[in-house]
Amino acid sequence: MYPYPALQHQFPLQSLNTFRIAARAQAYLRVESLAQLRAALADPDVAALPRLVLGGGSNVLLTGDVAGLVLHIALAGREVLAGDADHHHVKAAAGENWHDFVQWTLAQGMGGLENLSLIPGTVGAAPIQNIGAYGAETKDLFHSLTVFDPATGQTRTMDAAACRFGYRDSIFKHAAGQGLIIVDVTFALPRAWQPNLRYAELAQAVAEQGLAAPTARQVADTVIAIRRRKLPDPAEIGNAGSFFKNPVVDAAQCADLLARFPTLVHHRQPDGSEKLAAGWLIDQCGWKGRSLGAAGVYAKQALVLVNHGGATGADVVRLAQAIQADVQARYGVRLEPEPVFV
Ligand SMILES: Cc1cc2nc3c(=O)[nH]c(=O)nc-3n(C[C@H](O)[C@H](O)[C@H](O)COP(=O)(O)OP(=O)(O)OC[C@H]3O[C@@H](n4cnc5c(N)ncnc54)[C@H](O)[C@@H]3O)c2cc1C
Repeated sequence: MYPYPALQHQFPLQSLNTFRIAARAQAYLRVESLAQLRAALADPDVAALPRLVLGGGSNVLLTGDVAGLVLHIALAGREVLAGDADHHHVKAAAGENWHDFVQWTLAQGMGGLENLSLIPGTVGAAPIQNIGAYGAETKDLFHSLTVFDPATGQTRTMDAAACRFGYRDSIFKHAAGQGLIIVDVTFALPRAWQPNLRYAELAQAVAEQGLAAPTARQVADTVIAIRRRKLPDPAEIGNAGSFFKNPVVDAAQCADLLARFPTLVHHRQPDGSEKLAAGWLIDQCGWKGRSLGAAGVYAKQALVLVNHGGATGADVVRLAQAIQADVQARYGVRLEPEPVFV
């Protein structure tokens, strides 16, 4: 059988999650190829362990030590495929760093992913919650992906329909897709590239630079500059980006809220529902910059919870629950966390 690295026990995870929570894995295995992954999960002792698949650890909240196996996906490699008349096709292994991959596509002269620059994490995790920012989502540029199914020991290809993408959602977050391990992702990037400046803040930042016809590189640089200004760098302060999803309410509830809170930030969706800005709701409840113990709300962006140093997962959960309770009491809106609680 193809060899795979030995399991490590009581393995420290603090450097493997961007919240910098000090937790341990009962067992830890880092796989660097599909062959290693296949071999490891063909071992009944390994396969029997409860399993957490880990990429860059930028969308997980470790609420305690992990009982079972942390399976760290470090598959590497990226390539330009033949493509079709309208699209370049580029493929990357699941363990590739997302931002580096995006910058690499731009260096190949292929635009499309630039609005998603500087999102932490791996390529393999991008489809899991259909990562999105600045008016773009993974699903807009997605072609297909390969999953390894531990139940059958086989790989198979899934297209966009099979992935059932939604707002910060996909089949992989539901029972039908749970357990599947993404091993590579292929993107379809338009040959006739046009900048995507649907997001007002991005359009304004591009205009302020006097860029009437920005290149994909210039859009990427603008996104990177905005993100650096607004979001905490996990290398400096532990966090997992947006901690809550923006809640979606029906038109009647939005109208009712607007009558009581005229400055409510809301965005009409194509189906008539309204997406509210979770950060605004949290800010209005007075949470911006406040802390509960070592866990706090980032002073520049109320949607981001941070670890000021030494916070446990339980500290972050306590803070999140206090915020949820206040927002529910004031607005009647339930905030749903974005990171995966482990
Ligand atoms: C500062 C900051 C900014 C952020 N900004 C954004 C943003 O703008 N938009 C956005 O959408 N997100 C954002 N995020 C969240 C995060 O970066 C993304 O969700 C990212 O895709 C997570 O990647 P990861 O490799 O770190 O996943 P992990 O945190 O390791 O895992 C997340 C989930 O995916 C599963 N998973 C990971 N890899 C695989 C795989 N190969 N196969 C199967 N399951 C897998 C895990 O089991 C877990 O359930 C931000 C996070 C931070 C810290």
